[in-house]
Amino acid sequence: MNDNFLTELACPNCTHPIELKAGEQQVSCPACQSRFLLEGHVCPTCARYHREEAGFCHVCGTAMLRTCERCGKSNWSGAEYCQDCGAALDIFQLLNLHHKHATMSRLDEQMRSAHFYKEKEREDSEQRMSLLMANERERLRQLHERKEAQKKQDRQLMATAVIVLSIFVVIVAAFAVL
Ligand SMILES: [Zn+2]
Ligand SMILES: [Zn+2]
Ligand SMILES: [Zn+2]
Repeated sequence: MNDNFLTELACPNCTHPIELKAGEQQVSCPACQSRFLLEGHVCPTCARYHREEAGFCHVCGTAMLRTCERCGKSNWSGAEYCQDCGAALDIFQLLNLHHKHATMSRLDEQMRSAHFYKEKEREDSEQRMSLLMANERERLRQLHERKEAQKKQDRQLMATAVIVLSIFVVIVAAFAVL
């Protein structure tokens, strides 16, 4: 087995070390007897156990499955030989897969961050817009308030004038009677 590949795995249940034999797809823990599949679940590079089956390791990006070029069967990428036909599985193909996936996730990451910034810009401009609108509403409200206050003042002034005029008329009338 290649030195870069996993020969031992910590049990995902009890962390007891489990020795891996070449070509094995299903292993069981000698300590807690829990059984689990390697195929699609254990990264052959960093030994991370994935609860859900995954095509690539979520931690280091290594391909966890690969197809035998001879018979087309999907094998655990840590396996040296095809489960079905026994063909030797090429380690360079795996490294290549890893590289391709890493490039793809980098691109994906770039696209996501571009999208993120665009989204943020949009949110910012929306925020600016709503701030502007709020300011405008506030300005209109104050204007309206001032107008109302002015109107009220005018009415008061008018009322006062009417009262003063009435008193004056009454006085004049009183003098006229006398
Ligand atoms: Zn265990
Ligand atoms: Zn990994
Ligand atoms: Zn095969």
